[in-house]
Parts: sequence; C-alpha cells; structure tokens
Amino acid sequence: MDLELRALTKRYGEVTAVEDLSATVRPGQVTAFLGPNGAGKSTTLRMLLGLVRPTSGSARIGDRPYAELDAPRRVVGAVLGPDGFHRGRSGRDHLRTVATAAGIGPGRVDEVLDLVELTDAAGRRVGTYSLGMRQRLGLACALLGDPPVLVADEPANGLDPEGIAWLRDFFRGAAADGRTVLLSSHFLAEVTRTADRVLVIDRGRLRFDGSLASLAATVDPEAGAGDAAAIETAFLRLTTAVAA
Ligand code: ADP
Repeated sequence: MDLELRALTKRYGEVTAVEDLSATVRPGQVTAFLGPNGAGKSTTLRMLLGLVRPTSGSARIGDRPYAELDAPRRVVGAVLGPDGFHRGRSGRDHLRTVATAAGIGPGRVDEVLDLVELTDAAGRRVGTYSLGMRQRLGLACALLGDPPVLVADEPANGLDPEGIAWLRDFFRGAAADGRTVLLSSHFLAEVTRTADRVLVIDRGRLRFDGSLASLAATVDPEAGAGDAAAIETAFLRLTTAVAA
C-alpha cells in the first residue's frame, strides 16, 4: 500500500514546520525520513496519521486520509514513542485492552508478544520494562491489526546497539514481507544500515528523495550505497545538521 504526501504544509503561527512536502512511499522497502531535530519529521508523520491537521495539502494511506480508514489498526501500525503506557499494568493487559477496543481477537495478543520477543515479560508491569522493551511493546501494539503499513517516529532513540540491531532486523523483515515501512530518524549511521530509500528533510522542506546509492552519487558519481563518507557529506550538504 502506498503512502501519498501531496504538497503538505503545516504552520504554527510564525513557524512553518512543514512546507510543500510531496512524496510517495512504496511497499516492500524501508523508507527513512532523515533530518536534524526540528526538521519537521514528527509533524509530517502526525499529519499522515491524522493527529495533526495540515494547513494545506493532503496525506493519504492507500487512497484515503487516515480519518476515513474503516479499520485503521488493520491498515497502519504507528509507533510514536515508548511512553504511552500505564506503568502499573502488564504488557499483556495493555495489548488486550487495545485489541478489545479495536475489535481484534485476544489470540492475536500472544502472537504479537511473540513477534516482538516479549512473551517472557508479558505478565510484568510495564513500569519494570527497559526502554527497549517499551519500544517493542509499542511495536506489538502497532502489529495487533497485522497492518500492511508500519510508521515509526525515531524508533531507535535511546536504545543500546543490541536494541537498535533488533529493530533494524525487524523492520527489514517487515519490508521483505511486502509491508510499507516508514521510519524517522535524525541519526544518519542508523539510516544507512536500515533504509533502502531516504527522504531527507530540513527546515520543513524535502531536500532529497531516492536510494542511498543515489544520495552518495550526489557527492561522487562512483560512490555506492556502502560509501558512508559520501553519504555523510551528501547529508551535511543538504541539511543544517552538524557533523557528529
Ligand atoms: P522533528 O520531528 O524533525 O524533530 P518536528 O516536526 O517535531 O521536527 O518540529 C518541526 C518544527 O515545528 C520545529 O520548529 C518545532 O518547534 C515546531 N513545532 C512542532 N510542533 C509544534 C506545535 N505543536 N506548536 C508549535 N510549534 C511546533
């Protein structure tokens, strides 16, 4: 299922968070939304998910805006951060509540716990979970409806290398299964290992849309997708990010 962003613009008073942004995100690959903090990534994802109303333009999932989806959890799974859980409840209870509200059978709860490797911790209170476990619980929640689209805002933030590697494999597997996967990140090194395609955003504007190889080639026509130095140079030229 495609995601279609058409001339998306969001203004907050004097601040233009996103300006005239158009892109199509395709299934079967991981697309990264890459840009420094404040570039407009979260605002764009939130417009896609119907949480922020665009000032102008439109965002569609398949052929509809999010608000017009009949069963949104069966179409798009959103991971917007590790902090939306009641710390006194268990991971399994949380998933059961969400499943019930969405009309999803309870059997799916154990399936998604298994998919994110949280089965052993499912009966524990979320307050005892590590950040990585809460991130995976968010992912489990997103997977309840077995959606063809996954959208995650900075999913690797704050995770240790092992947690980041686990997520990378997970999202790559989801794309290999034919899902549409859109992830935001401000961290270039992570994107170069995870994404097939990058949308570089800076100060609300789309600066680049293409494969990692074509991003590298903007610096050196001979450079390939594995040329980390060329990709970093390209990213720094396109954005106001500073070298790490
Ligand atoms: P990113 O996710 O790339 O870090 P954001 O989309 O969160 O960027 O923010 C883009 C810009 O919009 C920033 O300048 C931010 O301060 C501003 N912004 C985001 N949300 C709001 C809001 N609710 N009210 C006012 N300004 C906002």
